Parts: sequence; structure tokens; C-alpha cells
Amino acid sequence: MRKAEPPPPQHKRLARPPVPDTARPERVLRGIAVSPGVAIGPAFGASEPVPVIARQKIQAADTAAEGARLDGAIAQSHRQLTKLRARLAVLPEESQVEIAPLFDVYLRMLGPSRLIRGVRRRIEETLLSAESAVAAEADAIAEAILARSDPDMSADDRAGLMRRADEVREIARRLVRNLTRQPFKSFSGLPQGAVLLTETLRPADAALLEPSRVAGVVAEEGGADGHTAVMLRALGLPAVLGAAGAAHAIRAGETVVVDGRSGRVVRNPSAATLADARRAVTKYARERQRYAKLRRLPAETLDGEAVELQANLELPIELPLIAQSGAIGIGLLRTEFLFMNRETVPDEATQAETYRGIVEAMNGDPVTFRVLDWGGEKDIEALSSAGIVPEVADANPALGLRGIRLLLRQTELLETQFAAILRAGFAGPVRVMLPMVTTVAEVRSAREIYERVARRLRRRGERIPEKLPPLGIMVETPGAALAADALALEADFFAIGTNDLTAYTLAVDRGESQVAELYDPMHPAVLRLVQFATEAALRMRMPVSVCGEMAGNAQLTPLLLGLGLRSFSMNAAAVPRVKQAVRAVEIDACARFARHVMDQSDPTRIEELVRAFSPARVDA
Ligand code: PEP
Ligand code: MG
Repeated sequence: MRKAEPPPPQHKRLARPPVPDTARPERVLRGIAVSPGVAIGPAFGASEPVPVIARQKIQAADTAAEGARLDGAIAQSHRQLTKLRARLAVLPEESQVEIAPLFDVYLRMLGPSRLIRGVRRRIEETLLSAESAVAAEADAIAEAILARSDPDMSADDRAGLMRRADEVREIARRLVRNLTRQPFKSFSGLPQGAVLLTETLRPADAALLEPSRVAGVVAEEGGADGHTAVMLRALGLPAVLGAAGAAHAIRAGETVVVDGRSGRVVRNPSAATLADARRAVTKYARERQRYAKLRRLPAETLDGEAVELQANLELPIELPLIAQSGAIGIGLLRTEFLFMNRETVPDEATQAETYRGIVEAMNGDPVTFRVLDWGGEKDIEALSSAGIVPEVADANPALGLRGIRLLLRQTELLETQFAAILRAGFAGPVRVMLPMVTTVAEVRSAREIYERVARRLRRRGERIPEKLPPLGIMVETPGAALAADALALEADFFAIGTNDLTAYTLAVDRGESQVAELYDPMHPAVLRLVQFATEAALRMRMPVSVCGEMAGNAQLTPLLLGLGLRSFSMNAAAVPRVKQAVRAVEIDACARFARHVMDQSDPTRIEELVRAFSPARVDA
């Protein structure tokens, strides 16, 4: 169930057809292209009114602790704004001059400003909680600013007052968010067909977007293969992440063009740019129609080798896209998304019902359920508020209590999920997969629990598959890839997660825009690990697939086929492109090509070779 949405933002309006604004110049901002397609629409900023906070009183003895909470939120807000401001350096001079002063105003307000002094006074003298004090003080200051307006003032002066009041409210929103850890986004006021602009978009926020309402997404933060990018691709939304300054430079209602293939975000597009963008939208729609014709054709190479093409799924709303894509089954169901945006952790019956619904919708095609991969950038409020995961994140969450590590500490969580999947397994073929495995001991422990849960369900008289569904693992750390021969003795199948494998091998955060150009799945180190894990599985005649974003990059299909892989799971939109690539090659040629690529040590050279090996027109 989705969380109740807070009241809609004040600037709610319907999206109007875009017309060029000739008074202001066109500006181009650049970011990381994460989800193909072109969107044109009015900008909608995802900032919200100050959340409604019930006036919370504290005890006199708690004022120091409340002051410390406020200090923490100020420091966090400071870090966020400093980081965003530093990234403006990539923008053209004129954009920097326009946006940077706003950040300076915000940063000043976090110092010994009237706002912060007033908040402290309210905590100490009125005994208000920090968030209540921030909201009350910001309201008081904003009202005092607006009260200075008088009818004799010029329109510019009046607009100036409103801007200052907005700035106070905006910094208060940030402080309250950081104090309450409230979900950042509300999309309730998003007009149909708008382009969403935001500083950051967490995976849980992206999961709230309705693809039928949103034209496209632009965020200042984020990397190419972070879970936010994964989610946006899954929803088929044209998107650009890591676009420095975008959310601050573009005003609500301005027309924006988002090009999810080139990473360009155009503000105030000229008539010529708008015409180009419209042509691109039409071209993209035609391309999709063309791909739709591939749906019923087999995924088979020219020399008759069958290849399994499956889809990744995060939320049930993606099921129709999967049905249209021609994917045969779900090769990776990221169950953690089903735990997001809800107040409580779903119990066994709720999970079983959701999972059964998905299995039934797949009509006999297999579904691979990956058990909860909590951690990294994926925070799940229901787990924090139930005290199942620590409130304070590890110093380095990507290396902390992630995936199977958490599940083996919180075995009840794992048992409940195993039970729900086994119950859903009665409705159709399922497989179960463990995330973030690094040792054989983890697989053994998980299997013991798996078998125990199955015995318990049978005793309870639940209907579960007679033969226990396969229990496999993600190979997504260098440790797992290099220990693949040992892990192959314990697991029933491998799914190679090239997203985390790339991140951990190259020590690059997959969701971080600042190091995005270092994130390279074609780095020979990553390819060698993929090859090593694949060969270990093939030697054991064990099923092996790729389910990271590499699987959905049609340019890489010949290389992966050449390495011996025959099973891929990807975002639904990529299935036809990859099918086209499969149908255009012969396995022998792929194998020769892969041998040549694996002799290379330079990632740039590998990229050139991959691009040049195009037996058919293959779009990346
Ligand atoms: C991966 O790491 O490649 C993967 C498929 O898992 P996720 O993207 O969910 O981390
Ligand atoms: Mg992963």
C-alpha cells in the first residue's frame, strides 16, 4: 500500500502544450543519460510545502538533546548544499552566476541567522521539538517578510519579498526533512505530462512515479546504474540524472526538453529545438512500434542457438510492460521495492498474495524472486521504524550490512520471505535468489533456513511445490566472482549482477554523479570476472545469467554471447533491442570477437571494438 500523500504543492496546474518563450534564451544543461526517450513538458519542482507538523512539546530536561538534533540537521543540510554548489562548476559561466547566489543565501541561513537563532529560542523557551520550532519560526519570518508588502510597491519589489519568503520556507523544508527523515517527495500535485525536476531522487521516490502521468525526470544527483536509474528505466521514463544545477536553474512551469539518450536538458527551448524534440518523440514512438513486431519472434541467433531473454521487475505496475516486451519470465524480481513506501513490513500472507499475483500474471513463465536486498542506497522506512535495521546508516553503507548479511542476522525476515515465495511457487514456476553473497557459508546457512521453512510449511498444511524451487545466488561482488567455482558447488544457479560487480571492482559508487565517468562495465577487470564466473557455472552445467544493466545493453550482447552466456534479464524496454541483436549474430563470430576483446587491457579500446562489431544496426 502506498503512503498517504501530503497536501499538494501550491503551484498545482495542468500541463499546457509547450510554446517557445522568445523573451528568454535557450540554455542547455548536461547530465548522465540514464533512460532513453525524449520528453517535452513544463517543469515541476518536487519541493514541497513545509510538512504539517503537529506542535510537539518537549520536557525542559530535553532541550540540550533537541538542540543537538538541530545541530545534526544543520550540518547535514550544509553538507547537501555544499555538495550541490560545488557541482555547479561544470555549468557554463552564465548559469553559475545565476544559480550560485541562491546556494549562498541558503548556506548563510544555516549559519547564525535570524532563522536559526529563533529556532533555538523556541526550543529552549517554548519547549518545542526541533522540527516544530523550525516550522513555526520559518512561518513567522516568512509572514513578517510578506507583511512588508504594500500596494505602492513596484511589482519587482513585491516579487523580491515573495522570493525571500520562499527561500526561508525552502531552507526550513530541508531542515525538517533532515530532522524527521520524512520521505523527500510528494508527487500528488504533479500535472499530467510534466517533467519532474529534483535535486535527488531516492529509489523509493522513483518507485512512486506513475509513468502515465510523468513525461520525464531530471535530477541533479545520481549515477548511470544506481537503483534510481534502474527504476526509471523500468518505468520507461526518459530521464537524465547528475544534471548539475538543473533543479535550481529551471523554474516551475518553464518548458523543458529532456533527452534521455544524450543526457541533454534544454531549458526554454527555441522553436527549432522544440521541433527537433517533437521529431525525436515521434521517431522514438515509431521505433517502439517496430520493436513490438519482434515480440513474437524467437530469441535465436542466425545459427539457431536459443537465448533466454527475461525481464527485471521492481513493482507490479511494470507487468504490462513486461507482457508487451516479449520477455519470457522474470529473471530478477527486486523484492525490496515491494517493502518501500509503506508504513509496516508486509507479513507472510501479504507477501504471499503479492508474489502469487505476479506468478499468476506471468502465465507459467518462470519468476526469479531475489530476497530482500536492503542497504546501500536503498533505505526502507518500514524496516527502520520497526527497528529491524539500524536507524543510523553504516559509515559506508555499500560495504555494510547489505543483502544476505542482514537477512542472516534478521532470520525472521528471511524465513517470512522464503515462506511467502514457496507459497506463491504453487501457482507457477519460481526460483529463489540470494543477494550480495560473498561466502559459501552464507549460501549454506540460507539453504538450511530455506529447507526448514519448507518443512514447517508442509507441517502446517500449506500448498508448496513438491520439489523445492532452485536456490541460487547473485554474483555481484569480486569476492563471489573469484570464488565462483566454490560457490557453484553450493548454489543451484548464478545470476551475475554487473551493476554492483562494476561498482565494487572499480571502487566506484554506482549512484554517484561525481565519479560517474569512472563507472565502466566494459573495464577489462569487470569482464574478466564475468568470464570467470560464467566459466565456473558452465563447467558445473549450472544455469547462469546476467541480470545487471549490462544485459540490457544490446551493443554488449555479442560479447556476452561470446563469453558463453545464453540467458539475460533486463528492463522490459530493452528486451526487443537485445532480441534484435541476438537474431543478427552467429555464435562462432561472437566467440571469436569475445576472445579478441578479452585480450585487451584498455577499456576505451574495448568500447571501440564493441561499437564497431555491429552485425546489424543495434541501438545502444
Ligand atoms: C546488480 O547489482 O547488478 C543487480 C542486478 O542488482 P541491483 O541492481 O538490484 O543491485
Ligand atoms: Mg546488486
